[in-house]
Amino acid sequence: MELSLSTGCIYIYPLRFTFSIARESGFAGVELVVAPEVELRAGRYVRRLAKSYGLTIFSLHPPILPLPGWSDYRTIVPRLIDLALEAGAGYVVLHPPNARSLADDRGRRYVEALREGLQRTEGTDVRIALENRAFFRPRDRGYVLSDLRELRAFADELDLPLILDTSHAATSSYSLAEAYHILADRLVNIHLSDLRSPPWPLDISYLHTYLKHHQMPGDGQLPLADFLSHLAADGYCGPITLEISPIALRIWWPPSVKRQLARCVAYVRRAFRVPCSNKRQRPPTTELLPPLTSNDRVLALEFELHRHNLLSPD
Ligand SMILES: [Zn+2]
Repeated sequence: MELSLSTGCIYIYPLRFTFSIARESGFAGVELVVAPEVELRAGRYVRRLAKSYGLTIFSLHPPILPLPGWSDYRTIVPRLIDLALEAGAGYVVLHPPNARSLADDRGRRYVEALREGLQRTEGTDVRIALENRAFFRPRDRGYVLSDLRELRAFADELDLPLILDTSHAATSSYSLAEAYHILADRLVNIHLSDLRSPPWPLDISYLHTYLKHHQMPGDGQLPLADFLSHLAADGYCGPITLEISPIALRIWWPPSVKRQLARCVAYVRRAFRVPCSNKRQRPPTTELLPPLTSNDRVLALEFELHRHNLLSPD
């Protein structure tokens, strides 16, 4: 297991300061969230900076706040892949699309972006990984790939690694243990945080990502200590990424951020008991079976498109 810090936790801090806090707090690396500074300075600078702090860039995540040019998957995916290659990140993180079906306009653009992404990553060290969706409003359940079994089947078909976000899972129709069971052998990263109901005046869906999801481990209702010891017993060796809300970290006061992150690190180290000798960067399925080529996966994607009556046979 390797501890990773999502730079989105302290999104507004300069990258150099973020990296120094990550190092000081005991993280081995980061999940780099695209932010204006990352775009401005480009991937190679970020790679050098991470190296100077002894940090690994495990994964790359799209921006968490609106950023010009980052709204369409057809542009997002190639930009993420190029940035990951420059920065030396192993995985590009994608969420399922806000589409009712893979056959509607948005779903179709997502699938096309994924197909182009698989071709672009062929022969490189970068892989696209899918993260389970968060549920904020009842209508979120109607989006495609929302159900964890559907997401798993989609990932199996394309041989895609998966990322389990514990807060997101807790708002799905599955318990955390069930969610883990469904996704387990494809997991290459865990986004760790707790879930806690905010006081009623603040219990508003658009504030949930800051005030309900992504709370400090141990401060909410999730059995995270049990979950971590289960992960350890199963031999999970990938990164565990702390993805904590800037409000829970009290981002306005850096000494508090450092204290809160130190608490997170201590919590994970205490709960994750079994030592890990052989480090795993890829899901076990790809280690045990001959890896699918990009062409195989594109063919699988085309099959998926046909299943949704997207392509007229020619
Ligand atoms: Zn997440």
